[in-house]
Amino acid sequence: MTSSIAARSADGIEKIAEIVAPAPVMAGERPSLLGLGRQTIADELRRIGVPERELKMRVSQLWHWIYHRGVTSFDAMLNVSKDMRARLSAAFTLDRPEIVSEQISVDGTRKWLIRMPPMGAHDKGAEIEAVYIPESDRGTLCISSQVGCTLTCSFCHTGTQRLVRNLTAAEIVAQVMIARDRLGDFPGATRPTDGLVPDAERAVSNIVLMGMGEPLYNFDHVRDAMATVMDGDGISLSRRRVTLSTSGVVPMIPKAGDEIGSMLAISLHAVRDDLRNELVPLNKKYPIRDLLDACRAYPGLSNARRITFEYVMLDGINDSLSDARELVRLLKGIPAKINLIPFNPWPGTKYKCSDWGRIEEFSDVIFRAGYASPVRTPRGRDILAACGQLKSETEKLRARARLMLEEGIGAEGVYAVGAGEK
Ligand code: SAH
Ligand code: SF4
Repeated sequence: MTSSIAARSADGIEKIAEIVAPAPVMAGERPSLLGLGRQTIADELRRIGVPERELKMRVSQLWHWIYHRGVTSFDAMLNVSKDMRARLSAAFTLDRPEIVSEQISVDGTRKWLIRMPPMGAHDKGAEIEAVYIPESDRGTLCISSQVGCTLTCSFCHTGTQRLVRNLTAAEIVAQVMIARDRLGDFPGATRPTDGLVPDAERAVSNIVLMGMGEPLYNFDHVRDAMATVMDGDGISLSRRRVTLSTSGVVPMIPKAGDEIGSMLAISLHAVRDDLRNELVPLNKKYPIRDLLDACRAYPGLSNARRITFEYVMLDGINDSLSDARELVRLLKGIPAKINLIPFNPWPGTKYKCSDWGRIEEFSDVIFRAGYASPVRTPRGRDILAACGQLKSETEKLRARARLMLEEGIGAEGVYAVGAGEK
């Protein structure tokens, strides 16, 4: 298993060095099986001596109980023999990562601050945020793929937090499980009475990889996690209800189409390279033209499976009506939806959100050109849960401390504690 440590280069574009994470699964005396894929569960069972001929059947049983039923103890697995349940309990847990806090916005949006189990003796446990956005008929869960982000988009709060590490596949899936636990989203469970939960069969009906981090810089873990989330015998979300948002890691886009197969969203935000270089510095590496070429070639693209282009509305920066017309021109020929996102402010930002009149005019230009152009209603702003407002206090492990950690030398106090911006 690998995770990443990052350093920034002078041009603001990330550099990632892969390092080996110390633990194969969530650390702890007994590892948790929560969030693991079928193959890893099989490997774990083999490790405790489950015979090869039983593996497939045992994995199916566990899969059903863990992901479909959401049980938190092996004792609840009624079709598993008592003896096997005892062996499982002796070797593993089904523990969830810790919920440090749950905040509920006045509009019903919920935000969880989640602490992952420590990866080693000197790791405090990385903290990330996940956000649940309920509507009357559906509920969207926004999950994180990294702790912080190596990219430095100038309008994004997460971008001010340097990357600590990639999340493992299990940690990404665990966010979904925690949300479903809290929302009573397993068979027979009770829905909460506070906040808002949609009047629908599933409380979590959609997932967006739009929390902290750039999912295509954590490709393998995101791919494996989404395979678990979309597996028809478990969490079972259709791939049309899972959307991966990228700031434009062009070389990974075809791979994402082939190996993940979810819906795709592109954080475009500007129609000229000079401006996009400033807003999304990754554009210096992968300019607009290359990005749109990758979109045109996205596997499975059709009018029924459109790419969403996200466009944050920044007052006086990218919101002129000629920008709107250019946007329409650029996207010609690509089955697309355009999602206008009112800028969500955060402490210390230099940007302002465009005023509503301008957002409506901008949206009209796009609408008249034949595109749906929903404006994303800001949700959960009062609890800093809206797009681009997520940031945890976990700061990058200093390189020297990391080295000491890897070498097993004591490294007390290796985290630089965040500046307390929340
Ligand atoms: N790293 C990925 C996914 C996470 S960001 C990406 O950049 O696409 C999810 C979306 O929120 C992106 O479109 C991002 O550009 C947008 N965003 C970031 N900061 C924002 C802010 N302050 N207000 C509104 N949207 C923001
Ligand atoms: Fe990272 Fe996305 Fe924020 Fe850019 S917008 S800094 S890629 S999380």
